[in-house]
Amino acid sequence: MMTSARSMKTVLVAGGAGFLGSRLCTRLLMSGADVICVDNLQTGYLSNIDLLTGQPNFSFIKHDITFPLTLRKQVDEIYNLACPASPPMYQIDPIHTLKTCVLGALNLLDLARDNGATILQASTSEVYGDPLFSPQAEGYHGNVNPVGPRACYDEGKRAAETLFHDYSLQHGVTVKIARIFNTYGPGMSPNDGRVVSNFAVQALRGEPITIYGDGAQTRSFCYVDDLLDGLIALMATPDDVNYPVNLGNDGEFTIADLARLILNKTGSTSKIVYNPIPVDDPQQRRPDLGLAKMVLGWQPKVTLEEGLNATIPWFRSQLKANSHRAES
Ligand code: NAD
Ligand code: UDP
Repeated sequence: MMTSARSMKTVLVAGGAGFLGSRLCTRLLMSGADVICVDNLQTGYLSNIDLLTGQPNFSFIKHDITFPLTLRKQVDEIYNLACPASPPMYQIDPIHTLKTCVLGALNLLDLARDNGATILQASTSEVYGDPLFSPQAEGYHGNVNPVGPRACYDEGKRAAETLFHDYSLQHGVTVKIARIFNTYGPGMSPNDGRVVSNFAVQALRGEPITIYGDGAQTRSFCYVDDLLDGLIALMATPDDVNYPVNLGNDGEFTIADLARLILNKTGSTSKIVYNPIPVDDPQQRRPDLGLAKMVLGWQPKVTLEEGLNATIPWFRSQLKANSHRAES
C-alpha cells in the first residue's frame, strides 16, 4: 500500500499570535495539524503562544505580511487573521493597516496559489459600515465612509474581499470569506481597547466605565469558541463556497446593556462616565445568520451571559499577573 509522505495537514495561521489566532492555532494542533504561525507581533504577543512553542508540530515565523513570504514547506490551508482589529489599534498607523489588509491579502493569496492551498480571509462586519438595514445579510453592500478614521480598516477589508473573489475567478484559488462580528473571550488583551476588554478591566479595577456616546448603539457579541467552530467549518466547505458568510452571534445588546451586565457580573461599584462618540461609530450591528446556518449547519451556542462568565475570570487573572509583575 502506498503511504503518503505528508500524512498531516499543514496550516498557516497569519496573525496567529493574536487573540483569535492563538486560540485557533491551539485548536488546529489539537486536531492533529502541523501549524505555522506567522505574526509581526504588532497587537499579538509571544505569551499567547507560549504553551505552543516547543511543540513538534508548531513553528513561529516573525514576519510582516505586507512583504511576500516564502516557506520551506508546502501548506494546505491558510487562515488570514493578520490585522489589528481594535479601532484604537488599527488607527495608530492607518496606512500600515491598509497595507496589511491589501498587500497582506495579495501576498497570502499568491502563497495559496503557489501551494494549491485553500485560503480563508478573516473579513469583518465593518464591511457593512454604519448599516442602514438590520440585521445585516451578506447581500447588503454597506454604508462605509471611505475617508473617515475607520476607513483604513473597513475599506482595506472590503478591498481584501475583492482580491479573494478575483483570485478565485482569475487564478482558480479556493477561497473562503468569513465576515466576523464582534468576538470576545478569554485570550483578549486587557490593553486591547475594545469594549468588552475596556469595560471588564475598568469594572475589575473600580475605575469609571467609559461609555462612548449615550450607549444606545448596539453590537452583537460572539464568544470566541463559537466563532472558531464557524471558521473551521467554513474552511471545510466544498470549493464552491467562495462567497462571504457572516459569523457571529445574533443577540443584540446596547452598549449601556453591556456596561450594566459587566458591572453586575463583577460586583463592581464603578461609576459610568459618558465620553464623546468616535467619528463614524456604527449605530447598530446584528448579523443575519441564515446563510451560515444553511451552508455550515453552524450556529452560536454561548449566550453573552455565559460568555462573560468565562471571560471575566480571564481578565481578573491577567490583572493579578500584571500586579505581581509590577511588585517584583
Ligand atoms: P488581534 O489584534 O488580537 O490579532 C491580530 C494579529 O495580527 C496580531 O497578532 C497582530 O500582531 C497580527 N498582525 C497585524 N498586522 C500584521 C501584519 N502586517 N503582519 C503580520 N501579522 C500582523 O485581533 P483579533 O481579534 O484576534 O482579530 C483577528 C482577525 O479577525 C483580524 O483580521 C480581524 O480583522 C478579524 N476580526 C476580528 C473580530 C473580533 O471581534 N475579534 C471581528 C471582525 C474581524
Ligand atoms: N465603546 C465604548 N466604550 C469603550 C470602548 C468602546 O462605549 O471603552 C463603544 C464603541 O464606541 C462602539 C462599541 O463600544 O460603539 C464597540 O466598540 P469596539 O471598539 O469594541 O468595536 P467596534 O464594533 O466599534 O469595532
